[in-house]
Amino acid sequence: MITQLLPVSEQSLAMASALLRQGELVAFPTETVYGLGADALNAEAVRNIFSAKGRPADNPLIVHIYDRSQLDPLCEIPEASLPLMEAFWPGPLTLLFPRKSTVPDVVTAGLPTVAIRMPSHPAAAALLRVSGVPVAAPSANRSGRPSPTTAAHVLEDLQDRIPLILDGGPCEVGLESTVLDLSHGDPVILRPGGITKDMLEKVLQRPVAVAGSVLRPLRENETALSPGMRYKHYAPRAVLTLVEGDPGKVVSLMRKRCLADRAEGRTACVLCFREHMEALRECNPHDIGSLSHPEETAHRLFDVLRALDEEGMDSVYSEVLPPEGMGLAVMNRLGRAAAFRTLRAD
Ligand code: AMP
Ligand code: MG
Repeated sequence: MITQLLPVSEQSLAMASALLRQGELVAFPTETVYGLGADALNAEAVRNIFSAKGRPADNPLIVHIYDRSQLDPLCEIPEASLPLMEAFWPGPLTLLFPRKSTVPDVVTAGLPTVAIRMPSHPAAAALLRVSGVPVAAPSANRSGRPSPTTAAHVLEDLQDRIPLILDGGPCEVGLESTVLDLSHGDPVILRPGGITKDMLEKVLQRPVAVAGSVLRPLRENETALSPGMRYKHYAPRAVLTLVEGDPGKVVSLMRKRCLADRAEGRTACVLCFREHMEALRECNPHDIGSLSHPEETAHRLFDVLRALDEEGMDSVYSEVLPPEGMGLAVMNRLGRAAAFRTLRAD
């Protein structure tokens, strides 16, 4: 199959919509990351998403809609979800709803809930409107690779496996949506993302919990509340190590480790805040944004992780952010990319 990569236009959107209605796959931009979409009500089409990505069948997908009127045929709508939809849709918040039987098992991996989101990216909204179908879409990467934040990343992973990629430029947020579970009464963040815990608490007027496995590996025999958390994710091929502690000491430990690895014949580099680029100039520093702007780190992270593979790195040391606000989502992805391998600089 030849993959076409087309800029978003009226014609390419019409072509993409026709493909979706025929049960084909289309990659499209959203404000979080690029998605790989199929008609959510066509089980055969949805199965093709799993084979194109090499995604385990027990990892459910998020269904994308452009209008709340599309919810009723898919799921029950609990009261508590209303203020959240009002405040954050369209946007990077995925909510779990009790599903109806119209939703094929393959979409939810047999779970009683279906994850639904209304993206704000104009091209995603237009695609959903023109096609008229709810679109099941995970991130448009090969399973295990960092999520794609540009059309070029999608092409890297899925060339010749899907018919069409719509190119809408780089994604604004750069990390996947927040996944919130309201189905057990108390709200729990299963995956942190662009909508932060504070933002949710302000609207719900009650505390919001964060699933324990967000900032640590799953324990043996622990059930993943969000099945995606079970898998090795976002990982570059290099051995990535996080370095935490006093900033001055972090910089000098990263430098020392990087140079020691090189002395042993490994290719090594560092991921650091812009403020530390100069101090780490001998270590092939990769800029992860400014210390004071976690949104910038979110926006750049997956692109930087992919670059490490292209550069054939063996060993990488990275600075960390406080796990607050957008920092929580960044540290969830960075932690998993590093398999939570951490050094303390004291
Ligand atoms: P992706 O689309 O690749 O960003 O992955 C979707 C994420 O949402 C994965 O981590 C899934 O495990 C999670 N997810 C989707 N549906 C459900 C559900 N019904 N219950 C819990 N987590 C879900
Ligand atoms: Mg994904």
